Amino acid sequence: MSKPRRALIIGGSIGGLCAAHLLRQAGWDATIFERSAGDLADRGAGLGISSELLETMHRIGIKIDRTFAFKGTRSVWLDQKGDVAFDIPRASNGSAWAIIYLPLRAAFPSDRYRTGMNLTQVEQSTDKVTAIFADGSREEADLLIAADGVFSTVRRQFMPDVAPRPAGYIAWRGLIDEKDMPPAGQATLLDYCAFSFPEGEMVVSLAVPGLNNDTRPGHRRYYFIWYRPTDAETQKAMFTDASGKHHGLSIPPPLMRPEFIAEMKAAAVTNLSPVLADIVQRVPQPLLQAITDMEAPQLVFGRVALLGDSAFVARPHVAAGTSKAALDAVGLVEALAETDDIDTALLRYERERQAFGRALIGHSRYLGAYLEGQLKPESERSGAELTRDPCQLIRDYGAPRQLHDIDFTRFET
Ligand SMILES: Cc1cc2nc3c(=O)[nH]c(=O)nc-3n(C[C@H](O)[C@H](O)[C@H](O)COP(=O)(O)OP(=O)(O)OC[C@H]3O[C@@H](n4cnc5c(N)ncnc54)[C@H](O)[C@@H]3O)c2cc1C
Repeated sequence: MSKPRRALIIGGSIGGLCAAHLLRQAGWDATIFERSAGDLADRGAGLGISSELLETMHRIGIKIDRTFAFKGTRSVWLDQKGDVAFDIPRASNGSAWAIIYLPLRAAFPSDRYRTGMNLTQVEQSTDKVTAIFADGSREEADLLIAADGVFSTVRRQFMPDVAPRPAGYIAWRGLIDEKDMPPAGQATLLDYCAFSFPEGEMVVSLAVPGLNNDTRPGHRRYYFIWYRPTDAETQKAMFTDASGKHHGLSIPPPLMRPEFIAEMKAAAVTNLSPVLADIVQRVPQPLLQAITDMEAPQLVFGRVALLGDSAFVARPHVAAGTSKAALDAVGLVEALAETDDIDTALLRYERERQAFGRALIGHSRYLGAYLEGQLKPESERSGAELTRDPCQLIRDYGAPRQLHDIDFTRFET
């Protein structure tokens, strides 16, 4: 029997794990090299997930049940008083980072997941690729998958000018236990994905599973993401800690300057409905993120393929980061299964996944256009930057043409 083909997967988050699992199922020898020495389980807050993501996990062999997401049944527009101004029967699937990441990680063999491995460079010959790590070690394989995220070292080696593009607004995120919500919120909000449209801003809020994937009433969490136009200079100050260190597009929560949190909480009282403002006040530790998007014009370089966030990052309005990474992995492994010629498979992968990524980014820009337009003079705004129709925006929200709602009965047999 011939030796299995070997793949090096750089980055052991959702994209890298999905790719490595699926390659192993397809008979490849696949090893993950992850820069972090510890666990990635603490990341993020709420996470929007799709049928496509759970289908991929199911295919990998993970048992899926209803605790993977809390399903809201309706999407509503909450007006400034907190009353429902518009209501459609559109489902939302609120999940959390750990619910997706932990089972993917647990199902992957530990001896093939190498932590503390920081890739610094890639070298290639015609049919081999070599990864070089910060500790000086080298690994050779038939294929290297760059699942190393938005600041991908691999992408920067091949395309140093491609970088996340600031969208002109930031997002405050917060998570609160259901039991700590104000009674008015508990009574009215939990079954909805709620959209609020303060002047020039937007809030999306929904219930997600609580501790240990608990989706029972009383045990869930409530999550909000509040988009606020913010100029470049203010963003620079917001992402700079008290010692003067600038952290780029996100800042570790303990290093956020208290005056910006205080300003945000004061703005909640003036800009948001009383029920949402009350929730914002109660959030123990808000998170702050600069909104950007990123589009790589090329996904394949010889035997190197970019996947997940290293290739495309859409704005959070499409709630698609993890689903796109999973679908990239499926697309890559299916292309490789079609032919023995790796180069031909990679060309197909690039063609198909680039079209998907571009469509997703385009839609996320449309959904964020009004927010992006706020800091421009009116004469320079165009299309969706000029006006917004909240009802239409709610109908179009997410990625309805690319990703689908979850039907948990599919996983119950
Ligand atoms: C800190 C953080 C918080 C997030 N929070 C949310 C959220 O709340 N909601 C949401 O929808 N999405 C969130 N995302 C995005 C979402 O997680 C991604 O869209 C999804 O995980 C798919 O991305 P990925 O696997 O391609 O890359 P990522 O998840 O970014 O993972 C990239 C991995 O590569 C590793 N890596 C980077 N450089 C190297 C290197 N040189 N060598 C080896 N390893 C390397 C990183 O440590 C990381 O584990 C978050 C991402 C990050 C990084």
